[in-house]
Amino acid sequence: MKISIPFRNTYNTLPDVFFQKIEPTPVSDPQLLHFNSTLAQDLCISLLHDDGTAMNADLKPAGLSQDIASTLAAVFSGNTLPDGAEPLAMAYAGHQFGHFVPQLGDGRAILLGEVTDSAGRQRDIQLKGAGRTRFSRGGDGRAALGPVIREYIVSEAMHALGIPTTRALAMVRTGEPVYRETPLPGAIVTRVANAHIRVGTFEYFAARQNTDAIKSLADYVINRLYPHCREHPHPYRALLTEIMRAQANLVAGWMHVGFIHGVMNTDNCSVAGETIDYGPCAFMDHFDAARVFSSIDHQGRYAYKNQPLIARWNLENLGACLAPLLADTTEEAVDHIKASVEVYRSEFDAHWQRGFLRKIGLETTSPGPVLPLVHELLERMQKDRADFTNTFRFLGDDDENLTRFRTQFRPDEGIDAWIQAWKSAIKLEYGPENDLKQARAAMNAVNPAYIPRNHRVEEALTAALHGDMQPTQTLLDLLADPYRERHGYEVYMEPPKPEEVVHQTFCGT
Ligand code: AMP
Ligand code: MG
Repeated sequence: MKISIPFRNTYNTLPDVFFQKIEPTPVSDPQLLHFNSTLAQDLCISLLHDDGTAMNADLKPAGLSQDIASTLAAVFSGNTLPDGAEPLAMAYAGHQFGHFVPQLGDGRAILLGEVTDSAGRQRDIQLKGAGRTRFSRGGDGRAALGPVIREYIVSEAMHALGIPTTRALAMVRTGEPVYRETPLPGAIVTRVANAHIRVGTFEYFAARQNTDAIKSLADYVINRLYPHCREHPHPYRALLTEIMRAQANLVAGWMHVGFIHGVMNTDNCSVAGETIDYGPCAFMDHFDAARVFSSIDHQGRYAYKNQPLIARWNLENLGACLAPLLADTTEEAVDHIKASVEVYRSEFDAHWQRGFLRKIGLETTSPGPVLPLVHELLERMQKDRADFTNTFRFLGDDDENLTRFRTQFRPDEGIDAWIQAWKSAIKLEYGPENDLKQARAAMNAVNPAYIPRNHRVEEALTAALHGDMQPTQTLLDLLADPYRERHGYEVYMEPPKPEEVVHQTFCGT
């Protein structure tokens, strides 16, 4: 049997300077750890008999025969190249913690190719951890099991939360160790993206003053991701503004769920507006706007509250790369960049406000009078170290006294006054007869019960290191439907006990 992936590759039609054509390095003993059959279906992936006829096989993880599992493991470890794959490693540069590195590139990721999915969208299929490339510098081109599972769990959770993200299609163990501080089991994650083009991809060519390449790349991005920009009198100006809008939407989404990316370098900033490169990322437990998890972020550059500003900084760099395409003079180009940044700022504010108002049950189109409710709640949450996820979730409880909600705060008149003011705002919006039912349903549809809490993710990684994938499976199941509270899974809503707290997450190398 073989796997059919209907590749329709386009990135490899760009000039040679954009990539290195290179095949994955085979691994000794690939074992399938997980396969995302729903996503596979979206990507029109299927199984064929050796004679090319379709196999009517169930690709659900539980239903995979040994034969199918090893066929999938061979493909998603890079050992077998499926028909139509034209593997390559992409070139890019990037600002890392503010410092420009002119050459990064896919040092351990290999793009197998692209498919047109069932909705007609072009999607990249990439193996991460597939071996060395021209861009590997000192690295081994591999990934360790822990970070692979973290990326798989967290990216799928983000998708279920409705936040744009790369997806995870498969993960395999390689059967080979990777050497970090200690030897660890090696693994490969198959990542799916609307495109793996980063702000750093533009920076790569800007640093080389290769305006032709910048133009080719901009045209490619317009055709693939923002085709309506072609109709605009100035397509490149429209493109910059569209990418700004997409990032504004993305980062507002992170803020609404308490997500901290951890390494918002320009090479980890996708022009498709998707969350990409899950390294030392985490969701907050108790609310702290200054929260940082990444062990390499010593100055808190990428703290929760800094994310909107850093995204803007990244986008200003993109603007500078596009400048030669925006106008004939630098002054005029700068004006266009400033105008786009203004769009970013106002779009971000609008998304941020709309999202947080929804989280407290308000859909109003005139946020002015009720916005102080959001700010006051966040201030109280910060002061009382309230759990970010549960505070919002519990506000939607069918309970006049809001008992669970109140447990998040020190019992004082402050929170009582807030609840009274909030109830008045809800009445004003839904009408005086309303018993909060509608507002509760609306809140419970946007405030998750389950997020990939760091201590649970760590627990799953540790179990997987010992060969037990059950905790990973349980998390994947809960997080696929994060708004539905399930009996028997209450502990997955709980923040960590003092001894379970994970203070730092480590870079995903
Ligand atoms: P990241 O921290 O994953 O965003 O990666 C930053 C840069 O380092 C990218 O160019 C990666 O391809 C490269 N890189 C990270 N880990 C490795 C590795 N184990 N081997 C080779 N290159 C790597
Ligand atoms: Mg990266």
